[in-house]
Amino acid sequence: MKFLDQTSTRRRFVRGALWSAATLLASSGLSCAQNAQTKPLQAKAPKSNARKPNVIVVLVDDMGYADVGFTGVRDFTTPNIDALARDGVICTNAYATAPVCSPSRAGFITGRYQTRFGHERNPFDTDDPAVGLPVEQKTIADVMKNNGYHTGALGKWHLGQAPHFQPNSRGFDEWFGFLGGHHDYMPRKGEEAPLKIMRNREKVEEKEYLTDALTREAVSFVDRNQQQPFFLYLAYNAPHAPLQAPAKYQKLIAGIEEPNRRTYAAMMLAVDEGVGKLRTQLKALKLEKDTLIFFWNDNGGATNNSSLNGELREHKGTMYEGGVRVPFSVTWPGHLPANRVCDQPILSLDILPTTLAAANLKLLAEMPLDGLNIMETLRNNQAPARARLYWRWNDGKLRAVREGRYKWVRRGGYKGELYDLQSDIGETKDIAAQKPELTARLDAAYEEWNKDNIDPVFPARAKATPKDKGELPL
Ligand code: CA
Repeated sequence: MKFLDQTSTRRRFVRGALWSAATLLASSGLSCAQNAQTKPLQAKAPKSNARKPNVIVVLVDDMGYADVGFTGVRDFTTPNIDALARDGVICTNAYATAPVCSPSRAGFITGRYQTRFGHERNPFDTDDPAVGLPVEQKTIADVMKNNGYHTGALGKWHLGQAPHFQPNSRGFDEWFGFLGGHHDYMPRKGEEAPLKIMRNREKVEEKEYLTDALTREAVSFVDRNQQQPFFLYLAYNAPHAPLQAPAKYQKLIAGIEEPNRRTYAAMMLAVDEGVGKLRTQLKALKLEKDTLIFFWNDNGGATNNSSLNGELREHKGTMYEGGVRVPFSVTWPGHLPANRVCDQPILSLDILPTTLAAANLKLLAEMPLDGLNIMETLRNNQAPARARLYWRWNDGKLRAVREGRYKWVRRGGYKGELYDLQSDIGETKDIAAQKPELTARLDAAYEEWNKDNIDPVFPARAKATPKDKGELPL
């Protein structure tokens, strides 16, 4: 109901997002069309003795599409996230491969459509040795480590809790965070016990606000590893529910009366401050030009955290744009242009192969990828070499395909729907009846792609046991 109630707000955000992109472009003197005509920046091949670039992937969780400045937020500001995006390339047609947390992360971290290996569901809170990212799948951290990088993961994992699924078993030298899908950020009212977090294989007590703790650990990771190439996966769980923010951030939010939205804004402020501190540290260590930074969100805004998806239809858990299109930026000063907008459709799966290309690294032999190296897409708005993007979620009950300007969506046993995203980004007019041939072709394309997917390999949930309730398995 939230989204029905917020129709007028959404309309305002339509203008907001357009205004935002236009402002960015105007300030840079560029447009999307000009991007394509701009003289291509030559790729700078890493010299054999040159330092390999550090790579940082900053992921946020369940954020609304219209909840950063560069996608049109109006009721609070995200100056540090915007500065990061402005110093690089903003991708306006970027997608997660699932509308929920864990499958989306499984896709990103392997560079493959996660349905290829049956990671279609969110693992429930268990240390069941069969519930997690299948161990045969190699991760981006495995690749980086194999290429001599020091690797770290911070924040939300959500790819399995049994020891062999934990970050330290999946290519990460260092890990600080929690294994499940959500976590308290601070003790609840009336509770004084510190948060319980994991540092590598051990449980530790954490007294700081969790978002601040993750920032502290990120800054420390960069400082400690400044002499060697590093890969950092900074997975903030903010602004995923529960809505919790300390007074120091709450009091900085002015002009938002609705208490949940105010807390959400305060949580975003903490993330934004974190991004700022991380970049300040990189600058202080003179690593800014040696560090490639991706910023993105794992799925569309949820209905339980007061996020706003702007002009996009629906939310997390759906195949409409509000479920899968996400804010996305790539920043690498001196190597990628600044103040640039890329409007080509891209996927989170592209992060892994793009990182490899940027650093001239070798892939592990046993990794079949669906992602693409999008360096030239980022540099020159060049179309990536694939005809379509595909989605499958909820045991195949939700399906979608994007081809050029068109998006096909099919829910359960319903007929396929077709939308023209170029003229109707809000997916308000189903034009399947007007374009039956295209609709049938995309339906067939989905079926063809789906032949290479497998059934989910772990159950959606099991009988809850006392152990499942809040305790972190070790
Ligand atoms: Ca999420």
